[in-house]
Amino acid sequence: MIPSVTFHGAAGTVTGSCTLIRHDGGALLIDCGLFQGPKTVKELNYRDFPFDPREPAALVLTHAHIDHSGLVPKLCRQGFKGRIHCTSGTRDLLTFMLPDSGFIQESEVQHLNQRNRQRGRAEVQPIYTRKAAEACLDQLEAADYGTWIDVMPGAKIRFWDAGHLLGSASVEVRVAGDGGEQTLLFSGDLGPGDKPFHGLPEGPAGADWVFCESTYGATVRPPVDNQERRRQLGAEVAEALKSGGVLLIPVFAVERTQELLYDLNQLIDDGTLPRTDIFLDSPLAVNVTEVFRQHLPDINHAGVANPFDRPYFHPITEVEGSKRLNRLGGGAIIMAASGMCDAGRIRHHLKNHLWQPNATVLFVGYQAPGTLGRLLVQGRSPVRIHGEEVEVRARIRTLDSYSGHADQAELLAWLAARGPIRGGVALMHGETAPRQALADALAATGLAVPIHQPALDETIVLRPGKAERVPAAQPRLVTVPDEDWHNLYARTVLDLSERLRHGDDAQRLALLRQVSALLTPPKADH
Ligand SMILES: [Zn+2]
Repeated sequence: MIPSVTFHGAAGTVTGSCTLIRHDGGALLIDCGLFQGPKTVKELNYRDFPFDPREPAALVLTHAHIDHSGLVPKLCRQGFKGRIHCTSGTRDLLTFMLPDSGFIQESEVQHLNQRNRQRGRAEVQPIYTRKAAEACLDQLEAADYGTWIDVMPGAKIRFWDAGHLLGSASVEVRVAGDGGEQTLLFSGDLGPGDKPFHGLPEGPAGADWVFCESTYGATVRPPVDNQERRRQLGAEVAEALKSGGVLLIPVFAVERTQELLYDLNQLIDDGTLPRTDIFLDSPLAVNVTEVFRQHLPDINHAGVANPFDRPYFHPITEVEGSKRLNRLGGGAIIMAASGMCDAGRIRHHLKNHLWQPNATVLFVGYQAPGTLGRLLVQGRSPVRIHGEEVEVRARIRTLDSYSGHADQAELLAWLAARGPIRGGVALMHGETAPRQALADALAATGLAVPIHQPALDETIVLRPGKAERVPAAQPRLVTVPDEDWHNLYARTVLDLSERLRHGDDAQRLALLRQVSALLTPPKADH
């Protein structure tokens, strides 16, 4: 048979990565990620897989991020019995991340079912539980970068360092089929180069087909190297400490936390910053930091002292320890999850400190629309936390140079180094506009092969010289919305309450009369 590739996720969206390769020896799955974002997209997580989970003989993971790995426990529970191939970094991170994801699925459903019971609706089951996530960890099998592995009859793979996350990889796949062997290269997520734990992403030259991410395909950033990024962080932290209050950093538990610890320690070592207590208040981030500590020989720069082993660094896992931080006066740094402030212990710390004018909140990552983090970055005050209104008097600062993704120029450079590409390029893992922008920029480089932008559940038959596109028989989503009615509803309600806070009573009454008139059905004519 002629090999084919079917895109069951990250096609027209950035989440739910899941690509099925069918070839002479059977089926091989690359990534099995959770859908995130608008509810219409997240709802796909609860539906059956659009293929028989027993069909793939093996699964290969590019990296541990949940949008690439988060449906693995569901796949295993529904009958997948094969090996899950990944790097040792990915395996060690997933040991903590998948059970944590199971715990999150269980608690989300618990809240939902409380409401469902009140409304007399049927209860829903979690996508998977912490226990189910723990059960599938035995199927993980770690391999080194650069080594060919026979993963099933007729298919072998090799990992290349993608520079995006500890253990992240691009995957080179060789499959047998009519017309001879073909080489497929899946980029996974690509890093920007020059990060604390990574250099430029690597990869082989001369594939038949390249499947490339396009998350920031429309973004052009000024280049920031390690030194400049650290200088910017140092300036922000010094300013925060000078005002005498606590510095809160909402963090993503995996890699962003460890990068910050690395850079903060460098700044303390070189005397830019005074020795300052750094509290890491997140059980997942503490466990993940331990994984980084174990992998330090592979990722640390030569001559840099262990960044996770300092007398002023205090990892906190117990709730009691977290509560004790309430008594902190100032001159300390608290890092806590979640990075967008929509859950986790950071919300307690924000409630404690946002009203204090000498406190600082420093955002170091992307804030999705509708999250508390986004509202704070937009300058909203007051904000609601745990049902209470909190006045925002703290300084709110943003540092956006810690991105783990390549921008347009870096994606083009990675693609150029993979040439000559003989069959074609498919762009994945990007919303509509960035993906189109990257396709245009790539075409402008004079690339001689077709550039595909597959839709969800579409198949490409890899006929040498001419790919054949086969649309999904039953598409699960016709268009993938960037914003659905749930998001718009939340934003409209927020806008309305914001408008009601300003002006006088007469203006408020006039506004509500207008809204009410829109909702009143017209009177029937008699
Ligand atoms: Zn990623």
